[in-house]
Amino acid sequence: MSKKLTKRAEDYSKWYNELVVKADLAENSGVRGCMVIKPYGFAIWEKMQAALDKRFKETGHENAYFPLFIPKSYLSKEATHVEGFAKECAVVTHYRLKNAEDGSGIIVDPEAKLEEELIVRPTSETIIWDTYRRWIQSYRDLPLLINQWANVVRWELRTRLFLRTAEFLWQEGHTAHATEKEAIAEAEQMVDVYAEFAETHMAMPVIKGVKTASERFAGALETYCIEALMQDGKALQAGTSHFLGQNFAKAFDVKFANKEGKQEHVWATSWGVSTRLMGALIMTHSDDNGLVLPPMLAPIQVVIVPIYKGDDQLDAISEKVNPLVKELRAKGISVKYDNRDTHKPGFKFNEYELKGVPVRLAIGQRDLENGTYEVARRDTLTKETVNADEVVAKIEFLLEDIQKSIYKKAYDFRENNITEVNSYDEFKTVLETKPGFISAHWDGTEETEELIKEETKATIRCIPLEAKEEAGSCMVTGKPSAKRVLFAKAY
Ligand code: AMP
Repeated sequence: MSKKLTKRAEDYSKWYNELVVKADLAENSGVRGCMVIKPYGFAIWEKMQAALDKRFKETGHENAYFPLFIPKSYLSKEATHVEGFAKECAVVTHYRLKNAEDGSGIIVDPEAKLEEELIVRPTSETIIWDTYRRWIQSYRDLPLLINQWANVVRWELRTRLFLRTAEFLWQEGHTAHATEKEAIAEAEQMVDVYAEFAETHMAMPVIKGVKTASERFAGALETYCIEALMQDGKALQAGTSHFLGQNFAKAFDVKFANKEGKQEHVWATSWGVSTRLMGALIMTHSDDNGLVLPPMLAPIQVVIVPIYKGDDQLDAISEKVNPLVKELRAKGISVKYDNRDTHKPGFKFNEYELKGVPVRLAIGQRDLENGTYEVARRDTLTKETVNADEVVAKIEFLLEDIQKSIYKKAYDFRENNITEVNSYDEFKTVLETKPGFISAHWDGTEETEELIKEETKATIRCIPLEAKEEAGSCMVTGKPSAKRVLFAKAY
Protein backbone atom coordinates (compact mmCIF):
# COMPACT_ATOMS: atom_id res chain seq x y z
CA MET A 1 0.00 0.00 0.00
CA SER A 2 1.22 3.48 -0.81
CA LYS A 3 2.24 5.39 2.32
CA LYS A 4 0.89 8.68 0.92
CA LEU A 5 -2.25 9.84 2.64
CA THR A 6 -5.20 11.52 0.99
CA LYS A 7 -5.22 15.16 2.12
CA ARG A 8 -7.84 16.27 4.65
CA ALA A 9 -9.02 19.12 2.46
CA GLU A 10 -9.58 16.73 -0.45
CA ASP A 11 -11.66 14.13 1.36
CA TYR A 12 -11.70 14.20 5.14
CA SER A 13 -13.48 10.92 5.50
CA LYS A 14 -11.13 9.10 3.16
CA TRP A 15 -8.17 10.66 4.97
CA TYR A 16 -9.50 9.29 8.27
CA ASN A 17 -10.08 5.76 6.99
CA GLU A 18 -6.67 5.61 5.35
CA LEU A 19 -4.91 6.98 8.38
CA VAL A 20 -6.44 4.44 10.77
CA VAL A 21 -5.20 1.63 8.55
CA LYS A 22 -1.82 3.05 7.52
CA ALA A 23 -0.84 4.09 11.03
CA ASP A 24 -1.49 0.48 12.07
CA LEU A 25 -4.28 1.32 14.49
CA ALA A 26 -7.07 -0.95 13.26
CA GLU A 27 -8.59 -2.59 10.23
CA ASN A 28 -11.89 -3.97 9.08
CA SER A 29 -12.48 -7.66 9.68
CA GLY A 30 -14.42 -10.39 7.96
CA VAL A 31 -17.28 -9.63 10.34
CA ARG A 32 -19.47 -6.77 9.19
CA GLY A 33 -19.03 -3.69 11.35
CA CYS A 34 -16.48 -5.33 13.64
CA MET A 35 -12.85 -4.20 13.63
CA VAL A 36 -9.50 -5.69 14.47
CA ILE A 37 -7.59 -3.35 16.78
CA LYS A 38 -3.89 -3.75 15.98
CA PRO A 39 -1.10 -3.63 18.59
CA TYR A 40 -0.22 0.04 18.03
CA GLY A 41 -3.87 1.09 18.29
CA PHE A 42 -4.43 -1.14 21.27
CA ALA A 43 -1.40 0.35 23.04
CA ILE A 44 -3.06 3.79 22.84
CA TRP A 45 -6.35 2.35 24.10
CA GLU A 46 -4.51 0.71 27.01
CA LYS A 47 -3.05 4.08 27.97
CA MET A 48 -6.52 5.61 27.89
CA GLN A 49 -7.83 2.74 30.00
CA ALA A 50 -5.07 3.11 32.57
CA ALA A 51 -5.65 6.84 32.99
CA LEU A 52 -9.43 6.46 33.24
CA ASP A 53 -9.24 3.47 35.54
CA LYS A 54 -7.03 5.42 37.92
CA ARG A 55 -9.57 8.23 38.03
CA PHE A 56 -12.46 5.80 38.61
CA LYS A 57 -10.62 4.23 41.54
CA GLU A 58 -9.66 7.61 42.97
CA THR A 59 -13.36 8.47 43.00
CA GLY A 60 -14.18 5.30 44.94
CA HIS A 61 -15.22 2.85 42.22
CA GLU A 62 -14.28 -0.83 41.96
CA ASN A 63 -14.11 -3.04 38.89
CA ALA A 64 -16.25 -6.15 38.46
CA TYR A 65 -17.48 -8.32 35.61
CA PHE A 66 -20.96 -9.36 34.52
CA PRO A 67 -22.12 -11.83 31.82
CA LEU A 68 -21.97 -11.13 28.09
CA PHE A 69 -25.49 -12.52 27.63
CA ILE A 70 -28.69 -10.98 28.87
CA PRO A 71 -31.90 -13.04 29.00
CA LYS A 72 -34.54 -11.40 26.81
CA SER A 73 -36.90 -11.12 29.76
CA TYR A 74 -34.37 -8.97 31.65
CA LEU A 75 -33.92 -6.57 28.77
CA SER A 76 -37.70 -6.25 28.48
CA LYS A 77 -38.23 -5.21 32.09
CA GLU A 78 -37.62 -1.51 31.63
CA ALA A 79 -39.96 -0.39 28.87
CA THR A 80 -38.11 2.67 27.51
CA HIS A 81 -34.79 0.85 27.71
CA VAL A 82 -35.84 -2.12 25.60
CA GLU A 83 -37.56 0.16 23.11
CA GLY A 84 -34.33 2.11 22.66
CA PHE A 85 -32.13 -0.93 22.11
CA ALA A 86 -34.52 -3.39 20.41
CA LYS A 87 -33.58 -2.32 16.90
CA GLU A 88 -29.89 -3.09 17.29
CA CYS A 89 -29.70 -6.34 19.25
CA ALA A 90 -27.77 -9.48 18.38
CA VAL A 91 -29.79 -12.45 19.64
CA VAL A 92 -28.57 -15.95 20.50
CA THR A 93 -31.27 -18.50 19.71
CA HIS A 94 -29.40 -21.83 19.56
CA TYR A 95 -26.51 -23.46 21.35
CA ARG A 96 -25.35 -26.19 18.95
CA LEU A 97 -24.38 -26.93 15.35
CA LYS A 98 -24.49 -30.25 13.53
CA ASN A 99 -23.68 -31.84 10.21
CA ALA A 100 -26.56 -31.56 7.76
CA GLU A 101 -28.04 -34.93 6.88
CA ASP A 102 -27.75 -34.22 3.15
CA GLY A 103 -24.02 -33.61 3.58
CA SER A 104 -24.25 -29.95 2.66
CA GLY A 105 -22.15 -28.85 5.66
CA ILE A 106 -22.60 -27.53 9.16
CA ILE A 107 -26.01 -26.19 10.14
CA VAL A 108 -27.66 -24.89 13.29
CA ASP A 109 -29.20 -27.82 15.12
CA PRO A 110 -32.92 -27.02 15.21
CA GLU A 111 -33.24 -29.21 18.27
CA ALA A 112 -30.80 -27.10 20.20
CA LYS A 113 -33.08 -24.09 20.51
CA LEU A 114 -32.74 -22.05 23.69
CA GLU A 115 -35.83 -21.89 25.84
CA GLU A 116 -35.22 -18.21 26.35
CA GLU A 117 -33.23 -16.22 23.80
CA LEU A 118 -30.15 -14.42 25.03
CA ILE A 119 -29.21 -10.92 23.93
CA VAL A 120 -25.54 -10.08 23.47
CA ARG A 121 -25.28 -7.10 25.84
CA PRO A 122 -25.71 -3.73 24.13
CA THR A 123 -25.20 -2.25 27.65
CA SER A 124 -25.50 -3.96 31.03
CA GLU A 125 -28.03 -2.05 33.16
CA THR A 126 -30.51 -4.93 33.19
CA ILE A 127 -28.19 -7.78 34.14
CA ILE A 128 -26.47 -5.57 36.69
CA TRP A 129 -29.66 -4.37 38.33
CA ASP A 130 -30.88 -7.95 38.49
CA THR A 131 -27.68 -8.64 40.46
CA TYR A 132 -27.96 -5.52 42.62
CA ARG A 133 -31.29 -6.80 43.95
CA ARG A 134 -29.27 -9.48 45.75
CA TRP A 135 -26.49 -7.13 46.85
CA ILE A 136 -28.54 -4.30 48.28
CA GLN A 137 -30.73 -4.63 51.36
CA SER A 138 -29.95 -1.73 53.61
CA TYR A 139 -28.67 1.83 53.47
CA ARG A 140 -25.40 0.34 54.75
CA ASP A 141 -24.93 -1.34 51.34
CA LEU A 142 -24.99 2.04 49.61
CA PRO A 143 -23.55 3.68 47.67
CA LEU A 144 -22.51 0.80 45.42
CA LEU A 145 -19.90 2.07 42.98
CA ILE A 146 -19.01 -0.46 40.25
CA ASN A 147 -17.30 -0.21 36.89
CA GLN A 148 -16.89 -2.87 34.22
CA TRP A 149 -14.43 -2.95 31.31
CA ALA A 150 -16.06 -4.96 28.55
CA ASN A 151 -17.15 -5.31 24.96
CA VAL A 152 -20.72 -4.65 23.86
CA VAL A 153 -22.64 -5.20 20.65
CA ARG A 154 -25.05 -2.78 19.00
CA TRP A 155 -26.09 -3.81 15.51
CA GLU A 156 -25.22 -0.51 13.85
CA LEU A 157 -25.96 -0.33 10.14
CA ARG A 158 -23.54 2.42 9.18
CA THR A 159 -20.21 1.71 10.79
CA ARG A 160 -16.77 3.41 10.77
CA LEU A 161 -13.57 2.23 12.37
CA PHE A 162 -13.53 3.30 16.05
CA LEU A 163 -16.26 5.94 15.68
CA ARG A 164 -19.17 3.59 15.31
CA THR A 165 -18.70 -0.16 15.26
CA ALA A 166 -21.10 -3.05 15.85
CA GLU A 167 -18.89 -4.44 18.58
CA PHE A 168 -16.94 -1.95 20.64
CA LEU A 169 -14.82 -1.89 23.78
CA TRP A 170 -15.82 0.39 26.60
CA GLN A 171 -16.20 0.82 30.28
CA GLU A 172 -19.59 1.10 31.90
CA GLY A 173 -20.03 2.42 35.42
CA HIS A 174 -23.19 1.41 37.29
CA THR A 175 -23.84 2.97 40.64
CA ALA A 176 -26.59 2.70 43.24
CA HIS A 177 -27.45 5.39 45.77
CA ALA A 178 -29.78 6.07 48.67
CA THR A 179 -30.90 9.48 47.46
CA GLU A 180 -31.73 11.29 44.25
CA LYS A 181 -29.34 14.07 45.15
CA GLU A 182 -26.44 11.68 45.58
CA ALA A 183 -27.14 9.94 42.27
CA ILE A 184 -27.27 13.24 40.39
CA ALA A 185 -24.00 14.30 42.05
CA GLU A 186 -22.43 11.03 40.89
CA ALA A 187 -23.61 11.48 37.28
CA GLU A 188 -22.22 15.03 37.32
CA GLN A 189 -18.96 13.93 38.91
CA MET A 190 -18.38 11.33 36.17
CA VAL A 191 -18.99 13.74 33.32
CA ASP A 192 -16.40 15.96 35.02
CA VAL A 193 -14.00 13.01 35.19
CA TYR A 194 -14.49 12.39 31.46
CA ALA A 195 -13.98 16.05 30.60
CA GLU A 196 -10.84 16.28 32.71
CA PHE A 197 -9.46 13.10 31.10
CA ALA A 198 -10.28 14.32 27.58
CA GLU A 199 -8.62 17.68 28.15
CA THR A 200 -5.60 16.56 30.17
CA HIS A 201 -4.66 13.29 28.50
CA MET A 202 -6.22 13.51 25.04
CA ALA A 203 -5.52 17.26 24.76
CA MET A 204 -9.05 17.45 23.39
CA PRO A 205 -11.23 20.34 24.53
CA VAL A 206 -14.82 19.32 25.27
CA ILE A 207 -18.06 21.01 26.11
CA LYS A 208 -20.02 19.54 28.99
CA GLY A 209 -23.76 19.58 28.65
CA VAL A 210 -27.01 17.70 28.93
CA LYS A 211 -28.81 16.03 26.06
CA THR A 212 -32.32 16.97 25.03
CA ALA A 213 -35.07 14.47 25.91
CA SER A 214 -35.02 12.93 22.44
CA GLU A 215 -31.27 12.29 22.53
CA ARG A 216 -31.26 10.86 26.05
CA PHE A 217 -30.10 7.33 26.82
CA ALA A 218 -33.02 4.89 26.76
CA GLY A 219 -34.22 4.71 30.36
CA ALA A 220 -32.46 7.82 31.67
CA LEU A 221 -34.00 10.91 33.25
CA GLU A 222 -30.95 13.00 32.33
CA THR A 223 -27.98 12.34 30.07
CA TYR A 224 -24.84 14.39 30.65
CA CYS A 225 -22.31 14.37 27.84
CA ILE A 226 -19.03 15.71 26.58
CA GLU A 227 -19.03 16.98 23.02
CA ALA A 228 -15.93 17.61 20.95
CA LEU A 229 -15.41 19.32 17.61
CA MET A 230 -13.50 17.47 14.92
CA GLN A 231 -11.29 19.26 12.37
CA ASP A 232 -13.91 18.98 9.62
CA GLY A 233 -16.35 20.94 11.77
CA LYS A 234 -18.47 17.96 12.73
CA ALA A 235 -19.26 17.29 16.37
CA LEU A 236 -18.61 14.02 18.18
CA GLN A 237 -20.28 12.83 21.34
CA ALA A 238 -17.30 11.54 23.26
CA GLY A 239 -18.78 10.31 26.52
CA THR A 240 -22.05 10.08 28.43
CA SER A 241 -23.14 9.89 32.05
CA HIS A 242 -26.74 9.10 32.87
CA PHE A 243 -28.95 9.83 35.84
CA LEU A 244 -31.37 6.90 35.74
CA GLY A 245 -33.67 7.88 38.60
CA GLN A 246 -35.40 4.85 40.12
CA ASN A 247 -36.37 3.31 36.77
CA PHE A 248 -34.10 0.27 36.99
CA ALA A 249 -34.63 -0.19 40.73
CA LYS A 250 -38.38 -0.32 40.11
CA ALA A 251 -38.08 -2.65 37.12
CA PHE A 252 -35.83 -5.05 39.07
CA ASP A 253 -37.35 -4.49 42.50
CA VAL A 254 -34.20 -3.19 44.13
CA LYS A 255 -35.10 -1.70 47.52
CA PHE A 256 -33.20 -0.82 50.62
CA ALA A 257 -34.20 -0.24 54.22
CA ASN A 258 -33.42 3.39 55.05
CA LYS A 259 -32.18 4.56 58.46
CA GLU A 260 -35.76 4.59 59.75
CA GLY A 261 -36.26 1.00 58.56
CA LYS A 262 -38.58 2.03 55.72
CA GLN A 263 -38.23 0.34 52.30
CA GLU A 264 -37.26 2.65 49.41
CA HIS A 265 -36.25 2.15 45.81
CA VAL A 266 -32.58 2.73 45.01
CA TRP A 267 -31.36 5.61 42.78
CA ALA A 268 -29.07 4.84 39.85
CA THR A 269 -26.49 6.18 37.42
CA SER A 270 -24.55 4.68 34.53
CA TRP A 271 -21.72 6.17 32.49
CA GLY A 272 -19.51 5.09 29.65
CA VAL A 273 -16.78 5.93 27.18
CA SER A 274 -15.75 3.66 24.36
CA THR A 275 -13.13 3.00 21.69
CA ARG A 276 -14.85 5.91 19.92
CA LEU A 277 -12.37 8.01 21.89
CA MET A 278 -9.68 6.65 19.58
CA GLY A 279 -11.52 8.14 16.63
CA ALA A 280 -11.89 11.41 18.53
CA LEU A 281 -8.17 11.50 19.27
CA ILE A 282 -7.24 10.90 15.64
CA MET A 283 -9.67 13.45 14.24
CA THR A 284 -8.77 16.16 16.75
CA HIS A 285 -5.02 16.40 16.16
CA SER A 286 -3.76 14.52 13.14
CA ASP A 287 -2.60 16.14 9.89
CA ASP A 288 -1.89 15.33 6.25
CA ASN A 289 1.36 13.56 7.23
CA GLY A 290 -0.32 11.22 9.67
CA LEU A 291 -1.14 10.90 13.34
CA VAL A 292 -0.30 13.55 15.87
CA LEU A 293 -0.46 11.99 19.32
CA PRO A 294 -0.50 13.76 22.66
CA PRO A 295 2.65 12.67 24.54
CA MET A 296 0.54 11.45 27.47
CA LEU A 297 -1.08 8.77 25.30
CA ALA A 298 1.69 8.02 22.82
CA PRO A 299 2.91 4.41 23.09
CA ILE A 300 6.35 5.62 21.95
CA GLN A 301 7.10 9.15 23.17
CA VAL A 302 10.61 9.43 21.76
CA VAL A 303 12.20 7.57 18.88
CA ILE A 304 15.93 7.66 18.19
CA VAL A 305 17.10 6.96 14.64
CA PRO A 306 20.82 6.36 13.94
CA ILE A 307 22.21 7.53 10.61
CA TYR A 308 25.29 5.53 9.77
CA LYS A 309 27.42 3.68 7.27
CA GLY A 310 28.76 0.35 8.43
CA ASP A 311 28.87 -1.44 11.76
CA ASP A 312 31.64 0.70 13.24
CA GLN A 313 29.64 3.89 12.94
CA LEU A 314 26.55 2.17 14.31
CA ASP A 315 28.54 0.85 17.27
CA ALA A 316 29.89 4.31 18.03
CA ILE A 317 26.38 5.78 17.85
CA SER A 318 24.90 3.00 20.00
CA GLU A 319 27.54 3.62 22.63
CA LYS A 320 26.26 7.17 22.89
CA VAL A 321 22.57 6.34 22.60
CA ASN A 322 22.28 3.38 25.00
CA PRO A 323 22.95 5.40 28.17
CA LEU A 324 20.52 8.07 26.94
CA VAL A 325 17.80 5.45 26.44
CA LYS A 326 18.45 4.22 29.97
CA GLU A 327 18.29 7.70 31.43
CA LEU A 328 15.03 8.51 29.63
CA ARG A 329 13.42 5.22 30.70
CA ALA A 330 14.43 5.88 34.30
CA LYS A 331 12.41 9.09 34.02
CA GLY A 332 9.37 7.11 32.87
CA ILE A 333 9.67 8.24 29.24
CA SER A 334 8.91 5.53 26.67
CA VAL A 335 11.68 5.52 24.12
CA LYS A 336 12.52 3.37 21.15
CA TYR A 337 15.99 3.13 19.66
CA ASP A 338 15.33 2.01 16.11
CA ASN A 339 18.64 0.48 15.05
CA ARG A 340 17.10 -1.91 12.51
CA ASP A 341 19.45 -2.27 9.59
CA THR A 342 16.61 -3.48 7.34
CA HIS A 343 15.23 0.03 6.76
CA LYS A 344 16.76 3.35 5.71
CA PRO A 345 16.54 6.43 7.98
CA GLY A 346 14.17 8.17 5.52
CA PHE A 347 11.75 5.26 5.71
CA LYS A 348 11.91 5.33 9.49
CA PHE A 349 11.29 9.10 9.60
CA ASN A 350 8.16 8.67 7.49
CA GLU A 351 6.92 5.78 9.55
CA TYR A 352 7.23 7.61 12.89
CA GLU A 353 5.67 10.71 11.39
CA LEU A 354 2.72 8.60 10.20
CA LYS A 355 2.47 7.01 13.63
CA GLY A 356 2.56 10.32 15.45
CA VAL A 357 5.60 9.76 17.68
CA PRO A 358 5.88 13.16 19.44
CA VAL A 359 9.68 13.54 19.50
CA ARG A 360 12.25 12.16 17.09
CA LEU A 361 15.98 12.22 17.63
CA ALA A 362 18.44 11.54 14.85
CA ILE A 363 22.15 11.08 15.31
CA GLY A 364 24.76 10.73 12.56
CA GLN A 365 28.54 10.91 12.16
CA ARG A 366 28.63 14.70 12.29
CA ASP A 367 26.51 14.77 15.47
CA LEU A 368 28.88 12.27 17.04
CA GLU A 369 31.81 14.56 16.28
CA ASN A 370 29.96 17.66 17.52
CA GLY A 371 28.31 16.03 20.52
CA THR A 372 24.81 16.84 19.29
CA TYR A 373 21.44 15.37 18.30
CA GLU A 374 18.93 16.54 15.74
CA VAL A 375 15.64 16.88 17.60
CA ALA A 376 12.31 17.07 15.71
CA ARG A 377 8.83 17.62 17.10
CA ARG A 378 5.90 15.93 15.36
CA ASP A 379 3.22 18.57 15.96
CA THR A 380 4.98 21.47 14.20
CA LEU A 381 7.41 19.35 12.12
CA THR A 382 10.26 21.63 13.21
CA LYS A 383 13.82 20.52 13.86
CA GLU A 384 16.77 21.85 15.83
CA THR A 385 20.26 20.77 16.83
CA VAL A 386 20.70 20.20 20.55
CA ASN A 387 23.83 19.53 22.61
CA ALA A 388 23.95 16.01 23.99
CA ASP A 389 24.19 17.23 27.58
CA GLU A 390 21.00 19.26 27.16
CA VAL A 391 19.00 16.68 25.26
CA VAL A 392 17.19 15.09 28.22
CA ALA A 393 15.97 18.45 29.46
CA LYS A 394 14.95 19.33 25.90
CA ILE A 395 12.93 16.13 25.56
CA GLU A 396 11.18 16.70 28.88
CA PHE A 397 10.35 20.23 27.81
CA LEU A 398 9.07 19.10 24.40
CA LEU A 399 6.82 16.37 25.78
CA GLU A 400 5.11 18.90 28.00
CA ASP A 401 5.07 21.62 25.39
CA ILE A 402 3.57 19.41 22.66
CA GLN A 403 0.82 18.27 25.02
CA LYS A 404 0.00 21.91 25.80
CA SER A 405 0.31 23.26 22.26
CA ILE A 406 -1.89 20.68 20.58
CA TYR A 407 -4.53 21.31 23.23
CA LYS A 408 -4.32 25.03 22.58
CA LYS A 409 -4.51 24.53 18.83
CA ALA A 410 -7.60 22.35 19.18
CA TYR A 411 -9.12 24.78 21.69
CA ASP A 412 -8.57 27.80 19.42
CA PHE A 413 -10.04 25.88 16.50
CA ARG A 414 -13.10 24.98 18.56
CA GLU A 415 -13.57 28.54 19.85
CA ASN A 416 -13.24 29.94 16.33
CA ASN A 417 -15.89 27.55 15.13
CA ILE A 418 -18.72 28.31 17.49
CA THR A 419 -21.01 30.75 15.75
CA GLU A 420 -23.93 32.55 17.39
CA VAL A 421 -26.95 33.02 15.17
CA ASN A 422 -30.28 34.73 15.77
CA SER A 423 -32.42 33.59 12.86
CA TYR A 424 -33.13 30.32 11.11
CA ASP A 425 -31.93 31.76 7.77
CA GLU A 426 -28.65 32.72 9.34
CA PHE A 427 -28.47 29.24 10.88
CA LYS A 428 -28.84 27.57 7.47
CA THR A 429 -26.25 29.83 5.86
CA VAL A 430 -23.69 29.20 8.60
CA LEU A 431 -24.30 25.44 8.37
CA GLU A 432 -23.39 25.56 4.70
CA THR A 433 -20.48 27.96 4.92
CA LYS A 434 -18.83 27.53 8.31
CA PRO A 435 -19.01 24.04 9.77
CA GLY A 436 -18.79 23.83 13.54
CA PHE A 437 -21.04 24.43 16.53
CA ILE A 438 -23.88 26.88 16.15
CA SER A 439 -25.19 28.51 19.27
CA ALA A 440 -28.87 29.43 18.96
CA HIS A 441 -32.13 29.82 20.85
CA TRP A 442 -34.59 26.91 20.76
CA ASP A 443 -38.08 26.72 22.20
CA GLY A 444 -37.43 23.47 24.08
CA THR A 445 -39.92 21.36 22.09
CA GLU A 446 -39.26 18.05 20.41
CA GLU A 447 -41.21 19.18 17.32
CA THR A 448 -38.91 22.10 16.62
CA GLU A 449 -35.83 19.98 17.28
CA GLU A 450 -37.11 17.33 14.84
CA LEU A 451 -37.98 19.91 12.19
CA ILE A 452 -34.49 21.41 12.30
CA LYS A 453 -32.98 17.94 12.07
CA GLU A 454 -35.18 17.00 9.09
CA GLU A 455 -34.46 20.20 7.22
CA THR A 456 -30.78 20.67 7.94
CA LYS A 457 -29.37 17.39 9.38
CA ALA A 458 -28.05 19.40 12.32
CA THR A 459 -28.91 18.14 15.78
CA ILE A 460 -28.82 19.67 19.22
CA ARG A 461 -25.51 18.40 20.56
CA CYS A 462 -26.15 19.59 24.07
CA ILE A 463 -27.47 22.25 26.35
CA PRO A 464 -24.11 23.39 27.75
CA LEU A 465 -23.83 23.18 31.54
CA GLU A 466 -22.03 26.49 31.51
CA ALA A 467 -24.50 28.27 29.20
CA LYS A 468 -25.38 31.61 30.68
CA GLU A 469 -29.01 32.58 31.15
CA GLU A 470 -29.94 34.80 28.22
CA ALA A 471 -33.55 35.56 27.43
CA GLY A 472 -34.21 35.16 23.71
CA SER A 473 -36.64 33.70 21.25
CA CYS A 474 -36.50 30.44 19.32
CA MET A 475 -34.94 30.95 15.88
CA VAL A 476 -37.69 28.83 14.30
CA THR A 477 -40.92 29.49 16.21
CA GLY A 478 -40.11 32.77 17.97
CA LYS A 479 -41.28 31.28 21.27
CA PRO A 480 -39.32 32.31 24.38
CA SER A 481 -36.04 30.59 25.29
CA ALA A 482 -33.96 31.01 28.44
CA LYS A 483 -30.56 30.03 27.06
CA ARG A 484 -28.75 29.08 23.88
CA VAL A 485 -28.11 25.46 22.92
CA LEU A 486 -25.40 24.03 20.67
CA PHE A 487 -26.28 22.60 17.28
CA ALA A 488 -23.99 20.81 14.82
CA LYS A 489 -23.84 18.13 12.23
CA ALA A 490 -22.38 15.16 14.06
CA TYR A 491 -20.69 11.83 13.64
P1 AMP B 1 -24.45 5.14 25.62
O1 AMP B 1 -24.52 3.88 26.45
O2 AMP B 1 -25.33 5.07 24.44
O3 AMP B 1 -24.59 6.37 26.43
O4 AMP B 1 -22.97 5.18 25.02
C1 AMP B 1 -21.87 5.11 25.86
C2 AMP B 1 -20.62 5.49 25.13
O5 AMP B 1 -20.38 4.60 24.03
C3 AMP B 1 -20.70 6.87 24.54
O6 AMP B 1 -19.52 7.52 24.92
C4 AMP B 1 -20.77 6.68 23.06
O7 AMP B 1 -20.03 7.66 22.42
C5 AMP B 1 -20.17 5.33 22.85
N1 AMP B 1 -20.81 4.60 21.74
C6 AMP B 1 -22.14 4.43 21.50
N2 AMP B 1 -22.36 3.68 20.40
C7 AMP B 1 -21.12 3.37 19.90
C8 AMP B 1 -20.66 2.62 18.77
N3 AMP B 1 -21.52 2.02 17.94
N4 AMP B 1 -19.33 2.52 18.57
C9 AMP B 1 -18.46 3.10 19.43
N5 AMP B 1 -18.84 3.81 20.50
C10 AMP B 1 -20.15 3.95 20.76
